[in-house]
Amino acid sequence: MAHQVPDLPYDFGALEPHIDAKTMEIHHDKHHAAYVNNLNKALEKHSDLQKKSVEDLLRDLSAVPEDIRTAVRNNGGGHYNHSLFWPSMSADGGGEPDGDLGKAIDDAFGGFAAFKEKLSATAVGQFGSGWGWLVLDGGSLKIEGTPNQDNPISHGRTPLLGVDVWEHAYYLKYQNRRPDYVAAWWNVVDWNAVADRFSAAS
Ligand code: MN
Repeated sequence: MAHQVPDLPYDFGALEPHIDAKTMEIHHDKHHAAYVNNLNKALEKHSDLQKKSVEDLLRDLSAVPEDIRTAVRNNGGGHYNHSLFWPSMSADGGGEPDGDLGKAIDDAFGGFAAFKEKLSATAVGQFGSGWGWLVLDGGSLKIEGTPNQDNPISHGRTPLLGVDVWEHAYYLKYQNRRPDYVAAWWNVVDWNAVADRFSAAS
């Protein structure tokens, strides 16, 4: 079974005004679709790898044959990152997590405000295209940035929440104002989805 683009769990316009409908449509239907098509194309001549999940491919890139390793890293990463990204957002998002996740964020970063500031700074400061992440690293919450479509899973960590800072994620509405996009993105973060990932990984 070839890899497939998951349906968006909401309408293109659901995250307005923070993320505009046109950006969501192009981002999901064109950009994410291109990563999936290119991943499937790369795997065409390696039928033994077609049964592997994208997580498994990315978790051990050294096991991917060298002739397609870069294609899998970039396009498998693009597929995985966006598959995490869409359900991490919701029209009913925003605010702050409570429960175990809220407490873990307080313990790790000294409070939600400090956490938000640190992840924002990492995402805004990521040079060129990439992502800002909240990850679980051996039981500890950490923030990191990755370039291009790299994912923390390739470095042994579990991604809980990522913000896409490729220009295609924000340029139509925000042009060069990446800080404004990241500030708006917090209003759509679905903390229930993040808390579910946290409890599954803890
Ligand atoms: Mn993207």
